Amino acid sequence: MASEFDLIKRYFSRPAPSAVLGVGDDCALVQARPGMTLAMTTDMLLEGTHFRAGTDARRLGHKSLAVNLSDLAAMGADPRWALLSLALPRADESWLDAFAGGFYGLAGRCGVDLIGGDTTRGPLAISVTLIGEVPAGLALRRDGAQAGDDIWISGATGEAALGLAHLSGRIDIVEPFRSGCIERLEAPEPRVDLGGRLRGLANSAIDVSDGLLADLGHILEQSGAGADVWVEQIPRPPGMVACADQALALECVTSGGDDYELLFTAPPHARGDLAVVSADLGLALTRIGSIVAGEPVAVLRDAGGNSIPVPRPGFDHFR
Ligand code: ADP
Ligand code: MG
Repeated sequence: MASEFDLIKRYFSRPAPSAVLGVGDDCALVQARPGMTLAMTTDMLLEGTHFRAGTDARRLGHKSLAVNLSDLAAMGADPRWALLSLALPRADESWLDAFAGGFYGLAGRCGVDLIGGDTTRGPLAISVTLIGEVPAGLALRRDGAQAGDDIWISGATGEAALGLAHLSGRIDIVEPFRSGCIERLEAPEPRVDLGGRLRGLANSAIDVSDGLLADLGHILEQSGAGADVWVEQIPRPPGMVACADQALALECVTSGGDDYELLFTAPPHARGDLAVVSADLGLALTRIGSIVAGEPVAVLRDAGGNSIPVPRPGFDHFR
């Protein structure tokens, strides 16, 4: 039976060239580059709460890092160093091998080095802490939205919630859309490059983890402004066509969580630059509304400009 130290050596000790000192001592040592502010975030994934028992280990390794990368992207920070804390029910080496493969695969693509962590026995739980750098004064915050800003969303939301609704047996999504929705849920692609490109263009940003309207609500509250959102403009994901219940599908788009798109606001004069960013990244950026002066609420409007009811956020399909 492998010891804790064998496991760390075998699965979590790849070289970390960007650190002064990586895995193996009591602490890792890192040096921020001149003029950079450190951005730090942590997220915990618990079996049964954040993922279903039996979820593919490679996807879990990917997602545990992806959710943190998404937070850094939402601040306009470049990811650098990760710490990984694991509680494992047993030393299952094929699980560890797959988990490490998913984690390091995404880390390598995003320029992240794993520099430390903790490994213990217990009910399966994964906590990743991620440290990034952002040029001083240029972080994208939730409190920067200005009246007159356009509201933008990257890609499209809804597929993660559709995937979850399918896995819980509430709806039936047919292939090939089914695999796409489940992949969105289990192995989301964080918008890392977009986050960096939004520095100096966006006034505020957040990543969509709780639902598009709920996360817009956080920007509105912290910025002290309201929003008009044009429901017809909100991008519909490909998987939506495969859902027989279109009202439910629209709820997934506006209120489903776990998509990890970026929602941001920018002044109208940034539209041209954002079109270039979208073309460079091959990622749709869609204008879905405007920030307005007033109470911190989002008003959904139909094509005629009439206010329509906001689909219930926090619906238990998504939790
Ligand atoms: P300590 O008892 O001093 O906290 P540990 O025995 O917990 O040290 O860990 C030994 C080394 O291995 C440390 O450098 C720690 O950061 C690293 N480490 C432990 N678990 C992990 C892991 N899951 N991923 C990466 N590094 C790890
Ligand atoms: Mg320790």
